[in-house]
Amino acid sequence: AKNEGRSTIRTFEPVMLYDRQLRTLMAAELRDAIGSDQLCVHYQPVVNLQDGAINGVEVLVRWEHPTRGMIAPDSFIPLAEEIGAISDLDRWVMATALQQYAIWRAALALPEHFQIRVNISAIELRQLDMVDFVRGLLKRMAVPPESLVIEITESALVSGGEVETYSLLSLKQLGVCIEIDDFGTGYSSISYLRRLPVDMVKVDRSILREPATGSWQPDFVAAVFQLIRAAGLGAVFEGIETRDQAEFLRTLGNVSGQGYFFSKPLPEPDITELLRAGG
Ligand code: C2E
Ligand code: CA
Ligand code: CA
Ligand code: CA
Repeated sequence: AKNEGRSTIRTFEPVMLYDRQLRTLMAAELRDAIGSDQLCVHYQPVVNLQDGAINGVEVLVRWEHPTRGMIAPDSFIPLAEEIGAISDLDRWVMATALQQYAIWRAALALPEHFQIRVNISAIELRQLDMVDFVRGLLKRMAVPPESLVIEITESALVSGGEVETYSLLSLKQLGVCIEIDDFGTGYSSISYLRRLPVDMVKVDRSILREPATGSWQPDFVAAVFQLIRAAGLGAVFEGIETRDQAEFLRTLGNVSGQGYFFSKPLPEPDITELLRAGG
């Protein structure tokens, strides 16, 4: 057993050491990046599928690393969560987003029910002062609460404890719109659709893909939409990549959507241009 152990160590040590060093390095770099000009956000338009008008944008964080290039959030959000930096990150994104929204409101003729959508981690939802932060920010930026949508993943909501429930109820009371993100990827039953204090559901883009072939099944998509409507909630579909998908979803009723078919997430100057042009 001793020999085995040593050979195991000899085989894996360099790799693990490398990973751990890289992780420690990235963690330190990420801490510095938050609040510096290395983090930025892109904005993806959300479209009312009935008339094609932009009715909001989703704010998506990016890390412009000085030597590693642009890093996608999927590869640093989990790290930020692990090292206890996610709350700072999410709050920086929220502040940046609402500031931008205030600028747009003053400079452009935004559509009437335009909403700015931010993502927050389950960990942030668990912070006792989270709702105070949001309330203060809305006030400081003079943003009406109903113009803010907070997107929270299905898994975070379903495994939520007392603090999470308290935060959700307080946010709702504040008038902020709450959305279940990545709907359809969790492990839970669907009963929580009627139980949780949420307003909208964002259907995960995997629902628009048939697992084996990558094609899609309109009947299945329609059934998911019916379920959301039956629960009395609004539906947003993400990952719309083809005209077929957009047109089919439009026939379902009052649906919003986002995806490469309409636009990729855009840097600030480009989204501002698009909003100025009126979509
Ligand atoms: P998400 O909230 O599900 O965001 C949608 C993701 O789908 C984005 O990836 C977006 O660029 C991508 N996407 C949009 N349209 C299409 C399409 O038509 N096809 C395909 N294949 N993909 C599309 P992104 O920007 O890489 O973000 C990944 C995830 O990182 C987000 O998933 C969200 O969970 C997380 N995230 C991003 N920003 C933040 C943040 O500020 N805070 C937290 N906590 N998480 C964030
Ligand atoms: Ca989202
Ligand atoms: Ca999503
Ligand atoms: Ca996601």
